[in-house]
Amino acid sequence: TPAKILEGLAGEITARDSKTGAYLSHDLESALAEAAGADLGLPLGGIPIGIKDNMNVLGQPCTCGSKFLENFISPYDATVIKKLRAAGAIPFGRLNQDEFAMGSSTENSALQTTRNPHDHDRIPGGSSGGSAAAVADGTAIATLGSDTGGSIRQPASHCGVVGLKPSYGRVSRYGLVAFASSLDQIGPITRSVEDAALILQAIAGFDPADSTSLDVPVPDYLSGLNDGVKGLKLGVPKEYFGEGIDPGVRRNVEASIQNLAAQGAEIVEISLPHTEHAVATYYVIAPAEASSNLSRFDGIRYGHRASSPADILDLYKKSREEGFGAEVKRRIILGTYVLSSGYYDAYYGRAQKVRTLIRRDFENAFQKVDAILSPVAPTPARRLGASAADPLQEYLSDIFTIAANLAGIPGISIPCGTVDWDGGKNLPTGLQILAPHLGEAKMLQIAKAAE
Ligand code: GLN
Repeated sequence: TPAKILEGLAGEITARDSKTGAYLSHDLESALAEAAGADLGLPLGGIPIGIKDNMNVLGQPCTCGSKFLENFISPYDATVIKKLRAAGAIPFGRLNQDEFAMGSSTENSALQTTRNPHDHDRIPGGSSGGSAAAVADGTAIATLGSDTGGSIRQPASHCGVVGLKPSYGRVSRYGLVAFASSLDQIGPITRSVEDAALILQAIAGFDPADSTSLDVPVPDYLSGLNDGVKGLKLGVPKEYFGEGIDPGVRRNVEASIQNLAAQGAEIVEISLPHTEHAVATYYVIAPAEASSNLSRFDGIRYGHRASSPADILDLYKKSREEGFGAEVKRRIILGTYVLSSGYYDAYYGRAQKVRTLIRRDFENAFQKVDAILSPVAPTPARRLGASAADPLQEYLSDIFTIAANLAGIPGISIPCGTVDWDGGKNLPTGLQILAPHLGEAKMLQIAKAAE
């Protein structure tokens, strides 16, 4: 029964999460009350789903991993939550993340450290690190994360689970606290490709409350799941296998590619020539949009308010100074700089043009192939503390995931074996599959064959 499942998970959380630190909070009582009315005939009937702490669930906290929102309680359900409930699921538990989803390790959370369940001295990846760690740790069956530049796929890879970023416009972001609105997407983190398909089915679809949501039919993601890869053309971009990628990661990804070839896929070498500019482009566009989105945190409307300010300007300044962490401030300053008059054309305008070139790279590639195969991240999970020493290195590690966000195409990360690396044993690695815009069904089909 749903109540038994919930109580079981709560037991696992008590048993293990003090070590892993994936959960910021969970409310068993209210979940049990919901479970009492669960309709088990629905596709996700009675299934608890953990939620990254940047999506609104009525009556629950929504901290975004920030001191700013530490005491905020949501007054409404995000559209994905309404849709999960309509499919019978029960939102259960709030998962840790980098503050406002800015980061790749979850170490930018202002509230808690999350550890990789495979090796507690390592990061779970990020920014949806709590969402991935909980699934890997068995303290969640499935979770939702958000992905602006890899934040679902990279932690899934580091934790050895499945993570899916849908096409831009496929899933409503109404009720997701915005980071970079032209890049953000919500998606599932699960133990299997089939579970990812089931959850995507539940959350996809048009929503008039999100102006970027697409009013197009949602295909059946499950019916073709077992159709295999025979006759499909799969592209391998040469730019994704160059220097900087760990040899063990490369070996595992190449073994997965061989496995798909053995099942009848045709492997084609392709080129995505503007790949080398993706990181720089992203780190102009994402901070620019973030600086605008985060202007709503002013000490008046939401969350933290500084005490005894001299005047209104002082109230804004003090609240933001006290409420935001270092990485969030770095991004806001960077964002306002690239948008400022005199610099706008040189940085933001330029980045938009390069973004178009990156999108065209994919359009050209998908003339020749059905999907693209690559690593998710250049290395397995780093040790805790390694990122803070070198933020630029952390930015560069997003190289394989961020182009998909810039192009608006879907991507999935699935486990592809483990490696020993940097003193760690059996660290998970991930295979990424990228597909054309709205091509989730075929992407899932390929992922199922590679699983
Ligand atoms: N690591 C990237 C960043 O820090 C991506 C984060 C994300 O996808 N939310 O912006």
